[in-house]
Amino acid sequence: METKKEKFPADLPSALNNFQKVKEAFPESGPLLFLDFDGTLAPIVDHHDDAAISEEMKSLVKKLSQRFPLAVVSGRGLSDVRKRVDLPELYYAGSHGFEISGPNGFSKDHEEAVKVIPVFNEIEPILKDKLKDIPGVDFERKKFTLAIHYRQVPQAQEEEVHSAVSKVLEDHKQVTKADGKKVIEIRPAIDWHKGRAVEFLKKQLSQEENTFSVYVGDDVTDEDAFEFVSNGLGVLVGEHGRQTFADYSLKDLEEVKSFFRKLLEE
Ligand SMILES: [Mg+2]
Repeated sequence: METKKEKFPADLPSALNNFQKVKEAFPESGPLLFLDFDGTLAPIVDHHDDAAISEEMKSLVKKLSQRFPLAVVSGRGLSDVRKRVDLPELYYAGSHGFEISGPNGFSKDHEEAVKVIPVFNEIEPILKDKLKDIPGVDFERKKFTLAIHYRQVPQAQEEEVHSAVSKVLEDHKQVTKADGKKVIEIRPAIDWHKGRAVEFLKKQLSQEENTFSVYVGDDVTDEDAFEFVSNGLGVLVGEHGRQTFADYSLKDLEEVKSFFRKLLEE
């Protein structure tokens, strides 16, 4: 596996201005496409429940899926992201890949993660109680993760949210937490992430061994895919405040759409 180096997002070349070069890396059959949802296909919104894909973006994704093998990879629960994209013919990896579904009833849950579900049932009421006095905390329970959104929490109290969560997790080692954009995500402490989900999906989407892939995402959790996935390139949308393993960048969803249109012209 090639070793990748982290870069500052501002130093990444634009996937649009360098499209010719991007394209040169594609195999003749075209790349496999892996697309994140929030911040990539749908704008980031104040309330995670309001996130929606535009008709224009949806139509582009549909057309792309008719040209290239394609999967949507999200931190959202599988049923949630499937419902929001609303293209039943696609492959989806929900909860960072702990649950995967595809056309013709294809479905796969991570077996080790299934065993951790009771722990979520146990910690959810504890966390709700510990955080009840902090205004704006928003819980999102998914099958394999528990997300604690704090976009609405006063900045002065953000640290309190983090420390309360850390304290509860000290007694529950079967789960671990990851930080996203104004969200703490509690997930099974299993070495599994979007990158491993993509590696798994590559085998579903293509008969060939390790087909070239393009992964487009905006968040820290997408870094696992940028870093881990071999024989492919990563496209970072916007910035997430840290260095990145992506190869190219797109500024925003408008540029994502332009990138998709260029892919469709090929
Ligand atoms: Mg995202």
